[in-house]
Amino acid sequence: MITKCILYCVFCLASFIFLAQTPVQRCKYRFDNYLNFKGSLNNRVEFQKEVIFILDNKGKKIFAFNENEIDVVAKYFINNTFVAQEKFIKFKGTKRFSSTQRDSISKKIVDKRIIAKKDNALPLSGYRIAIDPGHTGTNLTDAQIEQKFLYFVQDSINHPLDTIKLFESVLTFNTAQLAQKMLEEQGAKVLMTRSQSNFNSFNLTYTQWIEKHKKRVLDSLQRKKVHTKAQHNKLMKMSDRDLFWEFFRDFDLNHRAKLMNDFDPHASLIIHYNVDEKNEPWKQTSNRNFTMAFIGGAFTSDNIDKPENMIHFLRLLLTDELNQSEKLASLTVSNFNKNLNIPIASQFDANYLKDNCLFTASPGVFSRNLNLCRLINSPLVYGESLYQDNEKECKELMKMESNYKGIKTNERVLKVAKSYYDAVFKFLKN
Ligand SMILES: [Zn+2]
Repeated sequence: MITKCILYCVFCLASFIFLAQTPVQRCKYRFDNYLNFKGSLNNRVEFQKEVIFILDNKGKKIFAFNENEIDVVAKYFINNTFVAQEKFIKFKGTKRFSSTQRDSISKKIVDKRIIAKKDNALPLSGYRIAIDPGHTGTNLTDAQIEQKFLYFVQDSINHPLDTIKLFESVLTFNTAQLAQKMLEEQGAKVLMTRSQSNFNSFNLTYTQWIEKHKKRVLDSLQRKKVHTKAQHNKLMKMSDRDLFWEFFRDFDLNHRAKLMNDFDPHASLIIHYNVDEKNEPWKQTSNRNFTMAFIGGAFTSDNIDKPENMIHFLRLLLTDELNQSEKLASLTVSNFNKNLNIPIASQFDANYLKDNCLFTASPGVFSRNLNLCRLINSPLVYGESLYQDNEKECKELMKMESNYKGIKTNERVLKVAKSYYDAVFKFLKN
């Protein structure tokens, strides 16, 4: 109890110190702790006492944010679409807003996340949660293209007929359905990016998309000059597998982010199940198992040379979304650890953690510049609860013996869903 009180006091003190900082200092904290991947952005962002300058790759100042502008720009980012943000930032450039301009911008912003309090309402009434169950393939043809499945005989000598067959898309969808049910029971509104375990965010399978939409979509992108004629021809001639990796994967992820952002969520869950990277090509089980979660950040100088990414970078620098994401992700990882009894990963437990991520102050929470971590305009957690290829997990995950209010599942997936639900509940209610 005493330890709990001390920990709580330390947390309150840390929050107090953070709030006591000036807006520039708070941005500097986010830059140092989440965004600046191994010093890569040292020459792209200049912090002075009362102003932040953003520089292009030749050292020219392209944006300036003064102390008294940061809050209003952040509020604009949180409550507007990407297209509006892009226009606003171009207009802003390095000029300084007058106090009249700041007031007039502030008055026009509609805060879409305000919750009207009602008597006798359910605890999460008025809150919106967006959920993305990762991946799509649930048959060997689609899953082989996406490469997100496990299919092997665990013990070919003693049990040659006992095969391990797991599709990550089925696990993530099942988890999302359970979390949705739990959240809706408390009054929350939930958006799911796909409606069936074998569907992508366009609500069909990849094979169906190829048949019905490939030509129309690629033709339209050429007409809009997103692709040149040569690029269009190359994509049209590609095998389905190459097209998935060259084009469709990002096309689908961008669409998932758009669906989530249009919903103006108070929190977003991106659900994945991990594998042991040292066990590639995953034709046997592993005795390792770790739990972890990702949030946005870890930008390199090359990343922000792309104009679109610069906008996302500025949003993450100026708003407090990364601080909020760290809180939500930390609650989630701690629940995975407690409820599933899986150790929390440190940066030395996987190469991608050491090489591609920044570790945050919260154990098991890493900043990583993944598409959805960058594109989603809300606090988020990108959860990797467990290793599917772990010798014990793979057998438990294949079971379908449990039932949660009409949804068939197993004990492990149910615990993962409950961990997400409890984390979101605590995050929103605190
Ligand atoms: Zn995944």
